Amino acid sequence: MAERMEFQSEAKQVLELMINSVYSNPDIFVRELISNASDAIDKLRIESLSDQALAEYAKNGRIDITIDKEAGTLTFADNGIGMDHDELISYLGTIARSGTGEFIRAMQEAKNGVNSDLIGQFGVGFYSSFIAADKVTVETRKAGGSESWKWESTGDGSYTIDKGDRETNGSAITLHMKAGAESEDEHDITKDYLSEWTLRSIIKEYSDFVTYPIYLKESGEKEDKEEEKPVNSMKALWTRPQSDISDEEFNDFYRHISHDWENPMERIFYKAEGVSEFRALLFIPSHPPMDLFYQDGKHGVQLYIRRVFIMNDCKELIPEYMRFIKGVVDSEDLSLNVSREMLQQDRQTAQIKNSLTKKVLDTLRKMMKDMPDSYNKFWQTFGVVLKEGIISDFRHREEIMKLCIFDTSDEDKTTLEDYVINMPAGQDKIYYLAGSSLKNLLNSPKLEAFRKKNIKVLLLSDPVDEIWVNNARKFDKYDFVSAAAEELKLPEGVKAEPKETEELEKSGLVKKLKDALGNLVEDVKISGRLVDSPVCFVQKGEEISPQMRNFFKAMGQNVPEERKVLEINPENPLIKKIAEESEKDGFNAGEWSSVLMGMAAIADGEPVPDGKKFTELLSRLLEK
Ligand code: ADP
Repeated sequence: MAERMEFQSEAKQVLELMINSVYSNPDIFVRELISNASDAIDKLRIESLSDQALAEYAKNGRIDITIDKEAGTLTFADNGIGMDHDELISYLGTIARSGTGEFIRAMQEAKNGVNSDLIGQFGVGFYSSFIAADKVTVETRKAGGSESWKWESTGDGSYTIDKGDRETNGSAITLHMKAGAESEDEHDITKDYLSEWTLRSIIKEYSDFVTYPIYLKESGEKEDKEEEKPVNSMKALWTRPQSDISDEEFNDFYRHISHDWENPMERIFYKAEGVSEFRALLFIPSHPPMDLFYQDGKHGVQLYIRRVFIMNDCKELIPEYMRFIKGVVDSEDLSLNVSREMLQQDRQTAQIKNSLTKKVLDTLRKMMKDMPDSYNKFWQTFGVVLKEGIISDFRHREEIMKLCIFDTSDEDKTTLEDYVINMPAGQDKIYYLAGSSLKNLLNSPKLEAFRKKNIKVLLLSDPVDEIWVNNARKFDKYDFVSAAAEELKLPEGVKAEPKETEELEKSGLVKKLKDALGNLVEDVKISGRLVDSPVCFVQKGEEISPQMRNFFKAMGQNVPEERKVLEINPENPLIKKIAEESEKDGFNAGEWSSVLMGMAAIADGEPVPDGKKFTELLSRLLEK
């Protein structure tokens, strides 16, 4: 008796989208099913290295695609690891991946046909069968297991599992193809996927580099072993001389390993000889993958050892801050039965990682010099990720810093090297201002004195910025100094000392405000940095900024209470007026201090603590 089961709710949603969406490239399901088959053979081979009993099954991996025109089916069979009863349920009935919600949303929002990228990147490959099929049957037998199972679904929210009669290990996925559209309303699968010619060209295009032979035949065709020729070439591109490989071939290869539908932005071909011998073919994608910021996102390159595939997503070979890099590393020296644990401790792996890191940084440096437009695009896409390296990779810190591009208070962009070269005489610090949005930073009163003195300030608006800047502390021999620091000394000769402080001092306003504010602020001071604005907050000592405070709080960490210093501008007309008022009887220091606090918060792009009270106060004071 077949068991009937429900798909987990997210799986149900994904399936529904697969069935009902229009795809910019429906061919994707062929690639996804071949890639699953190839993974299944890989898994068997890897398991057989540690489990002698499986060795016999692991030989001669192959993928067989069979067209049955009469039945209207297409079958993808492999002799890989297979699945047992429980694996069928957990692998094909659920999606255990973070970001499923975002994926579903992105699919729903795609109006002009779903960009097939989404599917490959997200790894819901199996479900893509329902793009072309209205029923899918999976017959599978786990290698070394004694039972075979048959899974079947029409994608309507449930599936059945029953005993099967497959006699050899591996899986056969049979797609019962949708009929061509009969009316305009139906989704049309325009291609005839039951045509041998069509399939052959799709396989050639997207799966040529799969390392197992893919055979294609029509059901009923005589099997003639002599004649049998795989559709794919299986050639390991990276073993050929670079000059023999066309751009076309490189791009096809990239798309095959990355599941990307677009061409890469840049490629790196590298052959290392000497202490450790390996070849690497790496790519910088032209757009970010879905999982770039997920904790369990895929990262790393494929590892081959002497042309034999060992593992996907090998994190040990490429640093985390280069997790956007896709590619292949083929080592001559590592041992074939290497495990992840061994890789983590292996000296050679560390060497490969170090050379690849250098190579990528060199390539980026070259791009920056020779192809500034491409580099800018790279920076916009992956800069945030690369910057993490300033914190985590001490050895390459300077090189990474040289690759950074920052917004500045002059509304242009600069590298650190250019910043330093263009500093006015007398300046020996790199000034920055960190915050959560570029717009707020550009409007910050803290920049006024700098602008007046023609000193550029770097505007850092990525969350990671403040962490690395505090971590690195210098670039070359120049310290990073926050424009929001309390004790800010502008360079000699470009001094911004306040001139008219006498009146203000005489009025005693500073003390009155301070008394009124009590412990709401650390201090109230006469400002040397403000030019036009009346007030701003600055940070006491090495205080962490409001953004960092929010960040740490969000991470559940205890952060010390904020210690703000309120600076007031002695030359500002409003402050002058308040100072005047403060000498009269009935001056309400409490009200005025609240208003000034609110204004300082607004200038930082921060919310005013009690907005309603603030507006009431303000309108009352304005009336006067
Ligand atoms: P992904 O391949 O990205 O993990 P899929 O939705 O394509 O996602 O497949 C889900 C899981 O189902 C795979 O991880 C694998 O464990 C299993 N699976 C799919 N196809 C096969 C197959 N041909 N043989 C064995 N297991 C398979």
